[in-house]
Amino acid sequence: MLTISSVGRRFPDGTVALRDASLRLESGDFIALLGPSGCGKSTLLRLISGLDRPDAGRLDWDGGRAPAAGEIGFVFQDATLLPWATAEDNVFLPLRLRGVSRQNAATDVRSALARVGLAGFEQSRPRQLSGGMRMRVSIARALVTRPRLLLMDEPFAALDEFTRHRLQQDLIALWQSIGCTIVFVTHSIYEAAFLARRVVLMTPRPGRIACEIASTLVPGPETRLEPGYAALVADITHAMGQALEHA
Ligand code: ADP
Ligand code: MG
Repeated sequence: MLTISSVGRRFPDGTVALRDASLRLESGDFIALLGPSGCGKSTLLRLISGLDRPDAGRLDWDGGRAPAAGEIGFVFQDATLLPWATAEDNVFLPLRLRGVSRQNAATDVRSALARVGLAGFEQSRPRQLSGGMRMRVSIARALVTRPRLLLMDEPFAALDEFTRHRLQQDLIALWQSIGCTIVFVTHSIYEAAFLARRVVLMTPRPGRIACEIASTLVPGPETRLEPGYAALVADITHAMGQALEHA
């Protein structure tokens, strides 16, 4: 889908957020970008989204063109919902901004909310919903334009562990049913190990890609109890130690 070659990003104040980062994104992938705070994960995600441009290197999209706005969905750590608007209206927003009428959007909005388990909560406002439910609305809003690529920047970092596990499990089911490509930023080894097909490990600033660890786990309710999961966590932890040592 996308080849990222030797990409660098230096901000005007001299901060080098990324240096020589290369990565290939396959269609249907689930990649976790894992690294410590400040290593350039969000910067790399913004480069992929087209919100920011690299100073060095290049991004080559298969087919020669970057996805259009609606083909990329973005989910942030904060749900960033309009507080006065209902769940339905929050999910409708990206379609409204593109000129789709409320009537024409109605089916897509309802099905996006149903996909994230919020059927029946269409008329609820953010303050009436739990943190996990607000994040579900945020994911529905990202899905409503049917993106090919879903970029998620530490979406579950602010949730309690019980809610986080539930959302991780549901995200896998969602990914399997809609078949989009996901790049998921996290600083949690456990989260990366549970979710991703490929864990891409980044070094501390200036961020480089240290290595990649492939997973063959099929995430399910029992996965976290299995020896294969513990082994993967150990592999990633070991690689993390080496990346820190050589940084
Ligand atoms: P991460 O998401 O891994 O925590 P970021 O990609 O947000 O890291 O940031 C990488 C580094 O670049 C950090 O040191 C951050 O302070 C710095 N940075 C991010 N955006 C800017 C900016 N617009 N101007 C200057 N420095 C920035
Ligand atoms: Mg970040």
